[in-house]
Amino acid sequence: MLPLLLDQPFEKWKLGQVPQYRLEQLRHWIFDQGCCEWKDMSNLPKSLREELSKEWDILPMELLRVQGSADTTRKFLWKLRDGHLIESVLIPATEGTRGIRSSRMTLCVSTQVGCAIGCKFCASGLDGLKRNLSTGEIVGQILLARNQAKRRIDNLVFMGMGEPLANLPALLPALDQILSPKGLGIGARHLTLSTSGLAPKIIELAKYPAQIRLAISLHGGDDETRQKIMPINQKFPLEQLLQACEKFIQERKKMITLEYILIEGVNDDLTQAELLVAHAKRLRAKINLIPYNRVDGLEWKRPSVEKIRAFHRKVEQGKPARVTLRMEKGHDIDAACGQLRLRESKNSNIS
Ligand code: SF4
Repeated sequence: MLPLLLDQPFEKWKLGQVPQYRLEQLRHWIFDQGCCEWKDMSNLPKSLREELSKEWDILPMELLRVQGSADTTRKFLWKLRDGHLIESVLIPATEGTRGIRSSRMTLCVSTQVGCAIGCKFCASGLDGLKRNLSTGEIVGQILLARNQAKRRIDNLVFMGMGEPLANLPALLPALDQILSPKGLGIGARHLTLSTSGLAPKIIELAKYPAQIRLAISLHGGDDETRQKIMPINQKFPLEQLLQACEKFIQERKKMITLEYILIEGVNDDLTQAELLVAHAKRLRAKINLIPYNRVDGLEWKRPSVEKIRAFHRKVEQGKPARVTLRMEKGHDIDAACGQLRLRESKNSNIS
């Protein structure tokens, strides 16, 4: 397999004797035009394209399947060059205030093939970790999804397959390319990294200079409850996690989000709501409540609407900085990460 050009930061591309202005043309094709095929780069001499194509691959993955839902959330299943499968989910939304409406496009990006963390509600962890994605494979999902969307991607959430903070050596250079005006030019405040709670990595991430957003998958107000859902809690218990969050907030001066998936009979009692509010107030964090999405092969269920409302009300009564109740948009297309890949792998024996 040839090396992947997108694994290198474009400022450091050294392609033999290729002059700088040609490298700039190449950068323009890839990042501005979304062109990942040597043959289509019409203003580069054919001989140069042939020469470079023998040394470098540009296309990190192929689109294997698209699954769309009624509300136009689309899930892409990509086949990487070594045959592994990953997913990205494109989520449109209309927002607006004072009568001005605008449409935003959010992409949920994967950072690993599979996942080693094994959160109990997630299909990505069922098969364990296969490998980390490379920088180019992370950036490639955005370039290729943007081509599919035929428009700009406004927000990125690193909540797809994998634990982003377990792959910082590839992710941080990818963020550099995403943030750069010469790369994808997406602003830091439109980027959210979601972690299962790798406390030491949260402290490491705090040193990254851009003002990216951080979301913590909390899902339990005390160690006992959280452990049932997040086995990682055994390694990094709640107090250690909260202290790491405090350090991140201190360093970055940025509000974080506590994500809380509501699962029937597991973490939906009102004592948990009180504990959740206490943690959010300690961190001055926003709370995002997400009713559970069914996963094939798992027994857990979404609580009734009444229970969801009661939990939401209890949290609101505690007056945290902000609370939202997010009904998953892609509920009907298995938008929770890993499910499309899992099904495809079972059918085709690829992972
Ligand atoms: S939720 Fe994220 S961290 Fe947890 S198993 Fe799934 S992919 Fe891994």
